Amino acid sequence: MERLQVDAQALEEYAEYRRIVGDDDGGKLFTPEEYEEYKRKVLPARLQNRLYVSWRSPTGMDCKLVGPETLCFCTHRYKQHKTDYEVLPKERPISVPCRVKGCPCQSYHFVPLNGTQPVRCRCKHFPDQHSAAPGFPCNSCSKCSGFHSSFTCACGQPAYAHETVVETKEERLAQGKPVGQDVPYAAMGGLTGFSSLAEGYMRLDDSGIGAPSAELLEAPITSMDHPFLKAFQGPSSSAQSMPQIAGSSSATGQVSHRKQSEADDMAYFEKRYQERLKMEKAAKRKERNPVPSKKP
Ligand SMILES: [Zn+2]
Ligand SMILES: [Zn+2]
Ligand SMILES: [Zn+2]
Ligand SMILES: [Zn+2]
Ligand SMILES: [Zn+2]
Repeated sequence: MERLQVDAQALEEYAEYRRIVGDDDGGKLFTPEEYEEYKRKVLPARLQNRLYVSWRSPTGMDCKLVGPETLCFCTHRYKQHKTDYEVLPKERPISVPCRVKGCPCQSYHFVPLNGTQPVRCRCKHFPDQHSAAPGFPCNSCSKCSGFHSSFTCACGQPAYAHETVVETKEERLAQGKPVGQDVPYAAMGGLTGFSSLAEGYMRLDDSGIGAPSAELLEAPITSMDHPFLKAFQGPSSSAQSMPQIAGSSSATGQVSHRKQSEADDMAYFEKRYQERLKMEKAAKRKERNPVPSKKP
């Protein structure tokens, strides 16, 4: 019982750490001091200068709210782009360049999926066969003048007529678009509330699933993705949600794809972090308390 409580708390603390730090620790967990320093340094500007990213139809509708895990045309995720600004750029459109070394992507650019499949260019080649450099020329043929998809979005408009929009809070408010609450989390992009968690990103408010179940905590480390998948079981009436996922163990499409890569990302750090927390907790207990821990 004690072990499970520690695990649930460690999981929650780790999730919170990862939401705030994103990849900014370069793959090496911050010490508690570094973590505090990071928060002191980064959060004020992040809260003030958040950029909202969405994929907008010519009808004005945001057909996709870009979140931390949403893939860019350059094949990297939104969170791998430069999403924190100490001072907001003056020029428009605001560029959100990719931070992955060697990537030619100059600004985040969303490409839709057709169900689980990438959409094809009119040259018949897939997005990743094109260069992510400006103009998106095809690397696999010479007849392509730049990626152009006629795939029809749920809004009825072709993909090519949509635009990846990057805007400030003030700019969104001026258009009457939702901005959500101020959150300290990295690379939130266009996510503005619980209903925009269709991406399967970790739940961000108290209306979700609560502590992970004992069953989950006893599962092998490779299924650490479950709490995030379980976020789908929360109530959501948004058109952005994917109701077929709820309660299903055979999640399909974008979500299962994402689930897998997140599991890869997370498993290693998760394990290390949990081990460290457990050790710290055990040490503290020993130090101050020879009495056996209380049972629930
Ligand atoms: Zn990139
Ligand atoms: Zn990119
Ligand atoms: Zn081509
Ligand atoms: Zn092409
Ligand atoms: Zn659309």
